[in-house]
Amino acid sequence: DAPLPAAGELLQRRQRHFARPQKNYYRQPPQIERGWKEHLFDVEGRAYLDMVNNVTIVGHGHPRLSAAVGRQWSLLNTNSRFHYASVAEFSERLAGLAPEGLDTVFLVNSGSEANDLAIRLAWAYSGARHMLSLLEAYHGWTVASDAVSTSIADNPQALTTRPDWVHAVISPNTYRGAFRGEGSTVDYVRAVSEKLEELDQRREGLAGFICEAVYGNAGGIPLPPGYLQAVYATVRARGGVCIADEVQVGYGRLGHHFWGFEEQRVVPDIITVAKGMGNGHPLGAVITRREIAEALEKEGYFFSSAGGSPVSSVVGLTVLDILHDEALQENARTVGDHLKVRLQALGERFPMVGAVHGMGLYLGVEFVRDRETLEPATQETAAICDRLLELGVIMQPTGDHLNVLKIKPPLCLSRESADFFAEMLERVLDDGW
Ligand code: PMP
Repeated sequence: DAPLPAAGELLQRRQRHFARPQKNYYRQPPQIERGWKEHLFDVEGRAYLDMVNNVTIVGHGHPRLSAAVGRQWSLLNTNSRFHYASVAEFSERLAGLAPEGLDTVFLVNSGSEANDLAIRLAWAYSGARHMLSLLEAYHGWTVASDAVSTSIADNPQALTTRPDWVHAVISPNTYRGAFRGEGSTVDYVRAVSEKLEELDQRREGLAGFICEAVYGNAGGIPLPPGYLQAVYATVRARGGVCIADEVQVGYGRLGHHFWGFEEQRVVPDIITVAKGMGNGHPLGAVITRREIAEALEKEGYFFSSAGGSPVSSVVGLTVLDILHDEALQENARTVGDHLKVRLQALGERFPMVGAVHGMGLYLGVEFVRDRETLEPATQETAAICDRLLELGVIMQPTGDHLNVLKIKPPLCLSRESADFFAEMLERVLDDGW
């Protein structure tokens, strides 16, 4: 085999033709060409612990998944207008995982597509156009999923460029939001009612509400208790449907729950899933009630060339089998709880650790310059991530202030790897960066 080009030269080639808005991690990224479980390997043979990958839930290079994909590719890959077993089986399995009544599935190729379709379903079912969303949220890049995305970390112009059918309400961030602590539920619910009263006064209907049931972009902060029960009731009273974006938080990552909305004890009208469900293969789904799905027929048929293809369906089925057989949700719970305790202990030693958010393997360490003012330690967080790379850990900042460590590793993370991460982070905080 010809030797692989040096990482720097390859980066120049990437920058020449791969459009610039598609950013890469790190100024001098290692060239990663192999992965195994929660580990990545660069072309010089260095191993890295992948603590940021929220897609590869069953781990990198899973032999059972690659065997299933290889076998299916050699048998058949076509579109879902043909009749074959795997699309029926996969839809059945997804419906079986959803709460009762959500028994109808669309298969697409990404989280953006799933959210776009969910918004179209809300429009078709309600006959209205206005959507309620939360500030600090990311839901995708397609026209409709981008419209309800308000995170200024992803788009600095997000707050001034949303279309007039999007109504973004303050995010119920109990750590640094407008209202703090668990008792702030009523204040955040009032903010939603006030926002919707503006629409009521104009006598305009509400199509729906979209949010993550655990606050992903801000580092995995749980919503205040009872928040979604109250907001879902308000939205439904106006004829709107409630969409739970489970692209990151669903599928067992939270350890204690399979779906994020279980944490808030609500049942949405539409669930959107992607990322982990394909372990990196482009897969997305919308799970909803039959009458909501069928409302789309007003606009004609729905067709996605690769959504629900035999290969995609087999990937989806195999990921679910692996999750079950390797008890990965259980692993996310036990290893995640253990890691959270270790990270909280760092908070006792280092005042810069303002809070440790999240649950299971969906954690966020929020760095602040001052625990009273909560001034975000943005530059420090970037420097910590760069130093962690030198120590063999892949980690990135998240949140509107980019001051939160985005801890979302593969769900097969071992306890030893979790300890290694905690030790390396402690070393960086001890040494300075
Ligand atoms: N929703 C959430 C919560 C996400 O985090 C993302 C991706 N970061 C998306 C939707 C969009 O998914 P995709 O990148 O698969 O289009």
